Amino acid sequence: MEESCIFCKIALRELPSHVVYEDDLTMAFLDIHPTSKGHTLIIPKSHANDFISSPTDTLLAVTRTMQSIAPAVIKAVEAEGFNVHFNNGSVAGQVIFHLHGHIIPRFPRDGRELWKGGSYRDGEAAEIAEKIKNMIN
Ligand code: AMP
Ligand code: ZN
Repeated sequence: MEESCIFCKIALRELPSHVVYEDDLTMAFLDIHPTSKGHTLIIPKSHANDFISSPTDTLLAVTRTMQSIAPAVIKAVEAEGFNVHFNNGSVAGQVIFHLHGHIIPRFPRDGRELWKGGSYRDGEAAEIAEKIKNMIN
């Protein structure tokens, strides 16, 4: 529990939220400012700042819950698909630094174009792939 963490408070039910699921390790509740109807957040009950710093078991528990509740979320709002997001770092839109996954239901012609493909200049993709490979090893 982090004293000033709003999602720790939600996990402890010290703050109200529309909880749709919980188990020993995780909780899922509706996002207060939904990107689309049914937008759901899935958190671990124990505090972790983000995707990278989270213990692997914690992250696995979160993704397990995401997989198991996604069909119900989609069905409840009659969506046809969904996006899964983990924002990491302020530059990526992370506002709350307690690990959370987003399930964002998607509807035909909802006008949300999330992925706009860019391009690499000649040789750039190979260069970047090489850098990533070296960093991993
Ligand atoms: P992120 O930008 O990935 O950090 O996402 C934080 C999300 O938490 C945003 O989509 C907010 O709308 C949502 N949020 C903030 N406060 C609450 C709250 N009290 N209950 C539910 N969702 C919240
Ligand atoms: Zn927290």
